[in-house]
This record gives sequence, structure tokens and C-alpha cells, in this order.
Amino acid sequence: MDIHEHQAKDVLRRFGVPVPDGGIAFAPEQAMHEARKLGLPVVVKAQVHAGGRGAAGGVKLCRSETEVNAFALSLLGRNLVTKQTDAQGKPVHRLLVEKATDISKELYLGLVLDRKSERIMIVASREGGMEIEELAEDRPDALVRMVIDPATGLVPFQSRELAFKLGMSGSQIAQFSNVMRGCYRAFRDLDATMVEINPLVITGSGDLIALDAKMSFDTNALFRRPEVAALRDPGQEDPREDAAAEHGLNYVGLEGDIGCIINGAGLAMATMDMIQLAGGSPANFLDIGGGASPERVVAAFRTVLSDPNVSVVLVNIFAGINRCDWVASGVVQAYRELNLTLPVVVRLAGTNVDEGRWIINESGLPLISADTLAEAAATAVASRPAMAA
Ligand code: ADP
Ligand code: MG
Repeated sequence: MDIHEHQAKDVLRRFGVPVPDGGIAFAPEQAMHEARKLGLPVVVKAQVHAGGRGAAGGVKLCRSETEVNAFALSLLGRNLVTKQTDAQGKPVHRLLVEKATDISKELYLGLVLDRKSERIMIVASREGGMEIEELAEDRPDALVRMVIDPATGLVPFQSRELAFKLGMSGSQIAQFSNVMRGCYRAFRDLDATMVEINPLVITGSGDLIALDAKMSFDTNALFRRPEVAALRDPGQEDPREDAAAEHGLNYVGLEGDIGCIINGAGLAMATMDMIQLAGGSPANFLDIGGGASPERVVAAFRTVLSDPNVSVVLVNIFAGINRCDWVASGVVQAYRELNLTLPVVVRLAGTNVDEGRWIINESGLPLISADTLAEAAATAVASRPAMAA
């Protein structure tokens, strides 16, 4: 789960990381009020769950209240498209109004969960501000990496070594150690999966301050972090994924036109591969889970069909815990309830498969049956209306 920059800054501030003074605004008047409180100039920043806002016009230095008002008016209620969003962008409903900081140098600092070492890894660079993915690709040696041993936690000499590698001197070294400790403890104590400060800046007077902050959290740990769960902003999430989660469905929207309703994450991945192999493109990943009732299958259809790009639906069930007859009833019910006209390809295997096929065949609906995964994928690709194909 992602949170907003202002929330991440509040969290990090609590852990002792220096961040600029600022306030949140949901309306232009409020933004002007915050600017007046802080004193001009201020930096006004769109709060969306995506980076790249600076380059996309979502961050602006404002020298007057009129400028704050105009910028707030131009952003609030609109979608901001950045390099990290899709073509639709993310809605801007709140702004962070912050004290403008005098920047002398922009550094990069990130803590991520490194799957290879199974540890928290620190990634840092003298070259902050820009996107780290690009830097990692173009000039990997500009990045410094360090792994934290969970038995000892972050050890002070690690912070000092990093500070030296980042070219710091004097009191900056103690300040950097303080930033590192705060980020590490926030990461560890709140079950984060990522903490990123880009840029961490050295100010004109030589002090360190976090000008941007991003945090992601492990969704599976939210049950024991109610204070983190409370930071969720559903407005920034894909509404289709939300609706799906409410029905116990695991859905991820994609770009293609073949809607997928599948049981099991592995089979769902394999089916998406088979669709690609057959020359098509999946519209989504969807795992209906085990023991899916007909109602859950109908909910799956609703979710998949909420994507206007879908031109065919492929149902692929290998029933172990599931029952083919339940799934088949769900398919028939969905077809009738939702007045479907688009082609639906159904491949059933496993528990109660004969009953399932019987339900499909007896329904009298133009459902297309397939025996194997390969056949189902090829049939789905071939069944697309001419326009979509
Ligand atoms: P994003 O990463 O989404 O582009 P940032 O928060 O990193 O957004 O802001 C982009 C740039 O704007 C920063 O690299 C920094 O140069 C500048 N900036 C951001 N906040 C401030 C601030 N409070 N004072 C001065 N400059 C800022
Ligand atoms: Mg940034």
C-alpha cells in the first residue's frame, strides 16, 4: 500500500528525519492560508501516489498568494499524468504547501526490501532528483548499495561509511546518520516495503533535509498496523481492484482486450502467457480463489466487464477445491443477469467437470467450450470481434 508524500513526511518526522514545515490543503483558499502561515515563497505540491510530479507540472515554487491560488486552482480536481502514472493519471484532491528550501545539492536515499539477500537494502547516490531507475540503467556505478543485517540492525558505522561515499563532511555526517536511523526504524517498525527520499538535499547552509518522501507498506501486515492502514487513500487506487477485493477476488487491470476469469494465481499467469502465445493480449489478471460460489463468479464477470476494452471473456478453471458445477452455474447466471452478448470461452477441468459441462451445454446460451488451456486461449483470441482483433 502506498501513501501520500505529506503522510510519509509526517511519519518520518516522528522518527526524527528533518522535513520542511508544511500544511495540507484541499481548496485554493486553504492553500493560500497555509502559504500565509508559513511565509512566502512556498512550494506547492500535488499529492498523488506517483513520482515524476516535478517534471509533469505538479510542483511549483510560488512567490505570492495569487500565484498559490492560481496554481491550486489549476491542479485541484484534475488528473495529473506523470511518467509513473498511466495515460489517465491520478486525481489531485490535496496539495502540500511547503516552505521553500534553499537547495545546494540533491542526493538520493532509498531503503528497499531486497529479495535476493532477503534483507533491507540501502541504495544511495550523490545524484538525486532524477529517477533512480534511469540512473541505475545509465550509470550503475553512481549508486551505492548496502545491506542491513537483521541481527544487528543498522550499525552506526554503516551510516558513516555511506555519508563519506556521498561526499559529506563535518556535522553533515551526524545529520546523515540521524536520517538513516529514522528511515530504518520507520521501515522496520511499520512493516514498510520501501522508504524513498528523492531528493534528500543539502541546503545552502549545509544542513540535510528530506524534500520528497515516499513510503510503501506490506498489505499483509496492515492488520497489525491500524495507524498505517488509516493512511490509505482509495481515491488513488484502481477502483476495479478495490471492488474486486471486496468479493475476495484478486484482480489486476492490464491493457489488453481478453478478460480473464481464472482460479489460482499460477494458472492465471499461465493462461495470460498462453493468450500472448496465441497472439492476443489479456485485459486483466484475475484469481477467483478456492471454493468460488456462483455469486463470486458473477462478481468476477462484473469486475472484468467494468473494463470497456474487454471484447471476449475467457473462463479457465482447474477445479481442486473449486467445483466446476458451481463455476458453470455462475457463468450461466452472469450471462443472463448481465445480458452478455460478447463471446465467452469456458474451459473446465477437475472436480465435478461433467456436471459443469452439462450445465454449460444445457443452458442453451452461446457459450464456447474448450478442452485444453491451449485450445481455450486460441479460441478466445480467434473469437474477438473483427474490430478488436
Ligand atoms: P517528484 O519526485 O514527484 O518530482 P519532488 O518532491 O521530488 O517531486 O519535487 C521535485 C523537485 O522540486 C525536487 O527535486 C526539488 O528540486 C523541488 N522541491 C520539492 N520540494 C521543495 C521544497 N520544499 N523547496 C524547494 N524545492 C523543492
Ligand atoms: Mg522526488
